[in-house]
Amino acid sequence: MPVTTTRWLAEYAWLPEHAEPTPDVLIEVDEGRITAVTPLLGAHGPDAGVDVYADAVPLPGLTVPGLANAHSHAFHRALRGRTHGGRGDFWTWRDQMYGVADRLDPDTYLALARAVYAEMALAGVTCAGEFHYLHHRPDGGTYDDPNEMGAALVEAAAHAGIRLTLLDTCYLTSTVDGQALAGPQRRFGDGDASRWAQRAGAFQPTDAHVRVGAAVHSVRAVPADQLSTVAEWAGERQAPLHVHLSEQPAENDECRAVHGRSPTALLAEHGVLGPNTTAVHTTHPTSADLTLLADSRTGVCLCPTTERDLADGIGPARLMAEAGIRLSLGSDSHAVIDLFEEARAVELDERLRTRRRGHFTPVDLLTAASSAGHAALGWADAGRIAVGARADLVTVRLDSARTAGVPPVGTFFAATAADVEQVVVDGRLVVAKGRHLSVDVPAESSAAIEAVTPR
Ligand SMILES: [Zn+2]
Repeated sequence: MPVTTTRWLAEYAWLPEHAEPTPDVLIEVDEGRITAVTPLLGAHGPDAGVDVYADAVPLPGLTVPGLANAHSHAFHRALRGRTHGGRGDFWTWRDQMYGVADRLDPDTYLALARAVYAEMALAGVTCAGEFHYLHHRPDGGTYDDPNEMGAALVEAAAHAGIRLTLLDTCYLTSTVDGQALAGPQRRFGDGDASRWAQRAGAFQPTDAHVRVGAAVHSVRAVPADQLSTVAEWAGERQAPLHVHLSEQPAENDECRAVHGRSPTALLAEHGVLGPNTTAVHTTHPTSADLTLLADSRTGVCLCPTTERDLADGIGPARLMAEAGIRLSLGSDSHAVIDLFEEARAVELDERLRTRRRGHFTPVDLLTAASSAGHAALGWADAGRIAVGARADLVTVRLDSARTAGVPPVGTFFAATAADVEQVVVDGRLVVAKGRHLSVDVPAESSAAIEAVTPR
């Protein structure tokens, strides 16, 4: 990747604690970090006669911090547009997803994930959280390197130019009452949580763009008496810990039938909740669940485009925010990869539910899509255009068919991923003029998907 110019002059930049974007901001970058942020206040800009910032590269449009996609299953991208022919629900979709999972190996997954992460870069995503459970061979046997699939994902992110938090997922059973994994699920399992911990602990990539965290797949997939093993593994490392939570009412019902309590209460009892934990979805919590999440300072990652695609329901985002739960966003199944769409859905879904407008400010949506997401993935120094932060800069056109005439503060209600013009990740230029500099995303996506989809 080319080393970027160290001085950018943003037509507008969205700075921390500002209710709306600031015009004419000089952003200086060195060694992948932001070293100075100077609003020019009209005094020294290109229109001010003497232009003392002539060497700065202009960034027309709105520059926002790097966006974080806090919940990804890269291989689900292969299902986009293929699961909409009939009726069906989350569970029938899951069977189709298993068909793809069955066909992936380290080479085909590298090719697919490289295209998916490059698609994310095109959408302004500078860091992804990969909730990874395709650990083993289709029959459940280990690869020569038991972390070969995880290594493929790390390499894919490097090719695509984005950072990755690999959330190594513990996935042991197929039901809340502990039935064994079968068929395509066999490759997800390590046998028990201590063997999961051993394998996950052996994966220690040293690349600067990657961080390893942990995940509990769900209360369906990790027996109650093994939850604390995963929680302790993450706690010892101060690593992010993610968990699918209450995406489906059926999960809540089964958990109550087997354990006599909600999934959230079960996780709380076994030490899974806490400030480094992110609950993904949380579409169907009780008010007691929300209190447990808030009191433990657990975050929630909403995935609205997936939740709508899978007919999951609408999570109570406003209630969560009022309880002080920090919200992040993920494109999850990648039915859509567009963090602008995820962000505005948080507000728009709440409008549909309540038939009222104005639940979240534009800054709330930006925060969920940027700094809160990076923090949920263990990169607390990213997601802000501020001195000392990682130099992730995403520039959005304000002159496209969608954004023309839109005030910059309204960008999250108007722009799509297609309006992202330039992306800088850790000071390196990854996307320029709306094109990825090293991956031909359409060509590589179609080839990689063709290789792994059943005909
Ligand atoms: Zn998921």
